[in-house]
Amino acid sequence: MRSLTAFLLFVCATSAFAQAEDPPEVLRAKAGIEKLRSLVEAGVAPRAQLDAAEAGLADAQDAALLRRMVYGTELTEDQADEMIAAATRRLERRKKAVADARERVDSGVASLLSVTPFLEEQDSAKKELDLAESRARVTRQLAEMARSEEALEARLNHEPSTNHEFADRYDGDGVFTMATFAHVELDFEKEFGKPLPVSAMGETAVHRSLGFDHRGRVDVAIHPDQAEGRWLLEYLVDKHIPYFAFRQAVPGKATGAHIHIGPLSTRYKLGG
Ligand SMILES: [Zn+2]
Repeated sequence: MRSLTAFLLFVCATSAFAQAEDPPEVLRAKAGIEKLRSLVEAGVAPRAQLDAAEAGLADAQDAALLRRMVYGTELTEDQADEMIAAATRRLERRKKAVADARERVDSGVASLLSVTPFLEEQDSAKKELDLAESRARVTRQLAEMARSEEALEARLNHEPSTNHEFADRYDGDGVFTMATFAHVELDFEKEFGKPLPVSAMGETAVHRSLGFDHRGRVDVAIHPDQAEGRWLLEYLVDKHIPYFAFRQAVPGKATGAHIHIGPLSTRYKLGG
């Protein structure tokens, strides 16, 4: 008996080591499946039970992915898509569970009350999807803003002296530090009674995925032509703080408007 316990501990330790990335519920589901598979192969457990366990594993993996992404701070656009797909799959599984539970009620083998827990699970999966969608929206807006900066940078490289209709530029004294930014935030809040809507503080996963160095820069999700935007631009000029004010991502596209504080970002040089 003791040797069996030792053996099991060894197996658990090895698999935990091999899959350090997996959260506990995924590890549990995987271990359960291995056991079931051998039982199914030995003919002592039904195949349907293994199928159900495999569906459970897929669901646990989706839940782990969502937890990492919805509550994580760094997301690329691709990850935002993955997150939505996982939340959608989780909702679909729960809709199916509700339909199955209703079927059991209809055929008289279960009471109406038995549907309630499935409905509750479906409801929380819907909320999970809403949350994932709002996170994805923020990521996409951030990406639009980053693209507008990328477009301007490319244009300035080719025609440094041209006027650029989709962004206003102010060079100030060329210096922008986080200590300066603390004052900008405080003064904005004093003026408008709400926090400055910062969309990107320094570098983000979106900027890195675009190969864009946004360190030491801040993006604010305010249209330069709205009252708060006009106030902010005047304030920055008054303090000689450099900015770029974007009205749109690319000419003709109505997204990506924001105020970038600090010098313009540059491309990361490939190969150092
Ligand atoms: Zn920026």
